[in-house]
Amino acid sequence: IRFLWPNGDSLTLTSDLPALVEEIGRYDSGAEARVMAWLADAEPRFDLVMRRVVEADETSVEGYLRRVGLSSLIRSGTHRSMRAQLRRHFRSPRVLDALGSYAMYLGGSPWDLPGAFAVLPYGEIAYGLWLPRGGVYGLVEAIERLACELGVVIHTETEIRGVSVRNGRTAGVETVDGTGYGCDVVVINADAPRARRALLGPVLQSRRPRAPHMTPSVMTYYLALRSSPRDPGHHTIFMPHDSRRTFDDLQHAGRIPDDLAFYVAVPSATDPGMAPAGGSVLFILVPVPLPTVCPDVERDDFAASIRARVMQRMASHGLDVGDESIAFEERMTPREWQDRFALHEASAFGAAHTLLQIGPLRWPNRDPYVPGLYYVGASTVPGTGLPTVTMSGRMTVRRILSDAR
Ligand SMILES: Cc1cc2nc3c(=O)[nH]c(=O)nc-3n(C[C@H](O)[C@H](O)[C@H](O)COP(=O)(O)OP(=O)(O)OC[C@H]3O[C@@H](n4cnc5c(N)ncnc54)[C@H](O)[C@@H]3O)c2cc1C
Repeated sequence: IRFLWPNGDSLTLTSDLPALVEEIGRYDSGAEARVMAWLADAEPRFDLVMRRVVEADETSVEGYLRRVGLSSLIRSGTHRSMRAQLRRHFRSPRVLDALGSYAMYLGGSPWDLPGAFAVLPYGEIAYGLWLPRGGVYGLVEAIERLACELGVVIHTETEIRGVSVRNGRTAGVETVDGTGYGCDVVVINADAPRARRALLGPVLQSRRPRAPHMTPSVMTYYLALRSSPRDPGHHTIFMPHDSRRTFDDLQHAGRIPDDLAFYVAVPSATDPGMAPAGGSVLFILVPVPLPTVCPDVERDDFAASIRARVMQRMASHGLDVGDESIAFEERMTPREWQDRFALHEASAFGAAHTLLQIGPLRWPNRDPYVPGLYYVGASTVPGTGLPTVTMSGRMTVRRILSDAR
């Protein structure tokens, strides 16, 4: 994964250890000792966070502390910020900004997220970055295949209008065309805060866990090119000059940053089969504030103005995308993300992962008021991202089974 700054600085993080040391050594003195100490420290911390801290499914702080243990929480770095955790090993602002930018995987800022999440870049370096055959959609198809083999019946293009509640507990679901399905257990995978509001009757809607603070939204662009940009790289993060300011604009001020940060993926750089011969595909993701705090993201010219800034910045690094090479282009605005996937407040990564919204303080996976109603996915425990929502599935299954006993 490559990081590029406006002044031309670059840093590539890789699982190739000598290359990683060399890269970090361009910015931080004594890089070998720093990298080795960081990896040695992060390895047990990664296991601790993944196996013990993240997947502990407790709805009370007391129960959570009993299960995880205060010493584990302290060892995981939860009591300090992610940035502070990284500063224990690195001094260079470039290195800290690059490693800290992994906070965006959770839609957060390294200055706000608990230090336990500093294991994210370690995980990527230790276990590598993998592209499923057929792209990320290949993963969807594989899961569908496995589910069907297990006898699961999937109804696609079927919108649920409501969850039926009888005698105070779930009785089934109803689709928009009026078809009803009776069942004892309903698991909502739609974004929890919005789904609860949309799918339950007014009395139950008012009795809900506190609406969470949400992560920012995104503006995304999808381009199919007749050619391939020079040296595209699969993953590139275009860093701002001043990371802290950009994160503050996004997370706190509700302002579109002057100094944009964005991510560009060129999956055809790894798997040429993802584009016709000689061509390439580009995905561009620009984090932007939520429309609820920054109405400017809803303006008609918003998508075009962000696109122009992104293209200009890419061109300044030699990644030119000439209009004549674009065979196909599509984009999705925050509002489109919200409407197409029923995302609460158009938030791309669900409820934020700040200290007061993780573990037992996060939206629970069992509804506190309606027996038989459960949640899974980004806005419930443990949080956002594909690996994390997979854990969420496992946690919700365990919760349902233990309730059934
Ligand atoms: C642009 C973007 C890029 C991302 N990149 C990455 C990445 O590189 N790596 C990573 O790990 N994570 C990434 N994430 C985050 C990741 O995609 C999410 O955390 C994850 O998809 C959330 O999974 P989920 O199951 O909670 O919800 P979703 O994937 O949103 O699934 C919920 C589904 O429920 C459906 N639904 C909603 N309401 C109803 C209804 N009433 N009836 C029927 N169906 C309904 C929705 O249409 C949707 O299909 C990205 C997110 C975005 C927006």
